[in-house]
Amino acid sequence: MSISHLKEGFMKFHEGNFKEKSAKWEDLVENGQHPKIAVVACSDSRIDPAFMMNAEPGEIFVIRNVANLVPPYDDTAYGYHGTSAALEYAAQHLKVTDIIVLGHAYCGGIGSLFAPKEDKEVDYDFISPWMTIAEPAHRRVVATMPNATDSEQARACEKGGVMVSLENLMTFSCIREKVFNNELRLHGWMVDIRQGTLSCYNAETNQFEEIKK
Ligand SMILES: [Zn+2]
Repeated sequence: MSISHLKEGFMKFHEGNFKEKSAKWEDLVENGQHPKIAVVACSDSRIDPAFMMNAEPGEIFVIRNVANLVPPYDDTAYGYHGTSAALEYAAQHLKVTDIIVLGHAYCGGIGSLFAPKEDKEVDYDFISPWMTIAEPAHRRVVATMPNATDSEQARACEKGGVMVSLENLMTFSCIREKVFNNELRLHGWMVDIRQGTLSCYNAETNQFEEIKK
C-alpha cells in the first residue's frame, strides 16, 4: 500500500461508485447526512465498521480513537475533546437512535495496559493518559482473574473497556436523557478477527453473545 495506490483508488471510486450512484451522492450533499446509528470504534486499521458491517456512505456516523473508548463527561479539563464533541453532535444534531461501542479482540491499546512500563518502547505523551479511561476494566480483570493467561486477561479487558465506555456514555446528560426517554439505545459489541465473529452484550445475561446466522 502506498500513497499513489490510494490516489488511484480514489480515481476508481470516482469512475465507479461515484458516477454510478451520482443521484445518491447528490442527495447526500443537497439533503445532508442523516445517519441514525453512531459507532465508536478503534482506529485499528483492521477494524473498519462500514466495511465489516456492510454500511453505505451516509448510514453510520463513525467515531474512531485508540481502543474505542468513551471518556467520562468532563467540562472542566483543558483539552480538545474530539470524541466527546463527535458524540454530542451525534446525539444533539443527528439525533441518532442507537450508539454502538464496537470493541475488538487483539486491541493494541488495551494490550498496552498489560505491558510492563519498562517494555514500552516509547514514552507516549497522549496514549498513556488516554488509556487511563480503561483502567477500571484493567483493575477488575487483574483482581478477578489472577490465574488467567495474559491472553484471557486481555480478551476480558477488551470487553471490560466496552462496558466502561457504555457507562461513560451515560455521564453525558444529552445522551442519558435520551436513553431515559427511550429515544436512544446503547449497544456494546465485540468483533473478533481471528474467529470472524461478532458478539453483542446482553444486559439480561450480562454476557457478550455471539450472533449467529
Ligand atoms: Zn484497538
